[in-house]
Amino acid sequence: MTSPASVDGLPDYAPIPASARGVTPNEQGYYVGRVERNLYWVTDGVYQAAFLATPDGVVLFDTPPSIGHNLRRAIDEITAAEGVTNRVTHMVYSHHHDDHTGASSIFGSDVVRIGHEETRRLLLRDNNPARPVPDVTFADSYTLEVGGERVELSWRGPNHSPDNIYIHFPDHDTLMFIDVVNAGWVPIYNVNLSEDVPGYMAAPDIVLSFPWTHFICGHLGRLATRDDVLVHQQYIADIEASAREALASVNPVPYYVAGGENFWAGVKGHLDAVTERTAAPVIAKYTGVLAAADIAEFTYSTAFQIMQSLRLDRGPSGPVHP
Ligand SMILES: [Zn+2]
Repeated sequence: MTSPASVDGLPDYAPIPASARGVTPNEQGYYVGRVERNLYWVTDGVYQAAFLATPDGVVLFDTPPSIGHNLRRAIDEITAAEGVTNRVTHMVYSHHHDDHTGASSIFGSDVVRIGHEETRRLLLRDNNPARPVPDVTFADSYTLEVGGERVELSWRGPNHSPDNIYIHFPDHDTLMFIDVVNAGWVPIYNVNLSEDVPGYMAAPDIVLSFPWTHFICGHLGRLATRDDVLVHQQYIADIEASAREALASVNPVPYYVAGGENFWAGVKGHLDAVTERTAAPVIAKYTGVLAAADIAEFTYSTAFQIMQSLRLDRGPSGPVHP
């Protein structure tokens, strides 16, 4: 691992908007707060997890390794204050990615792990003892009932990952859905490192179709609101509209002529020009609105992925030769 000798060379980015700021972790490095009744969320400022503290046991939702053993501390702190057991009896995986599940094994083997059937398949593939495979799986939906509380899990198609599920707490007015919307912030590289771009773009409408007031989105230091989802949707819709305009207006011919017999040089010149034209107005519009919109690589790489999805998933990818 290398680190810069100094950070003086970092670009001078726009200040983080007030709307992007979150809670301040304690000196142990975590914050735990009540979402509603006995549902709590935990963050280290960048990653989020949640738990239900019921009289029959704790149900844990995701185990990001960056929070790690602080999950135990947060659970102990709350259950002691509430006078309920601190024993984690159930654990739900939002999706298989290690950055949200990599601390699973620290809760031992005497825990019922629940996840989508594709999560089980992918965890068997990845074969990482830090992430035991779920014992209970489902295809479309599953109702988890523990200690008088109810959680509705559902899978509505691939998006960020093939197995990413919606975790609805109907009696806590809350939805948990990870790695699509970053409250107050732009998605990071490549549509937030997503595998299915049309699925990613469609997911916020599904998010809004559930009744909820509190949204646990998996990242950064605060809970999300319905307005956060709308701003995210507008950012993505603006990229899509801008990509359509750029694809229609950038003439590829000069780039292929310039590339000569190096066809891929022509492809690069053309697609870089389309990406630049797509992203530039979006960066200008959202700088100061969504944090890190001015980190050009994020909006560029997301614009590139959406532009390619417009061509390859929806088509047309180009004119049909006469
Ligand atoms: Zn993920």
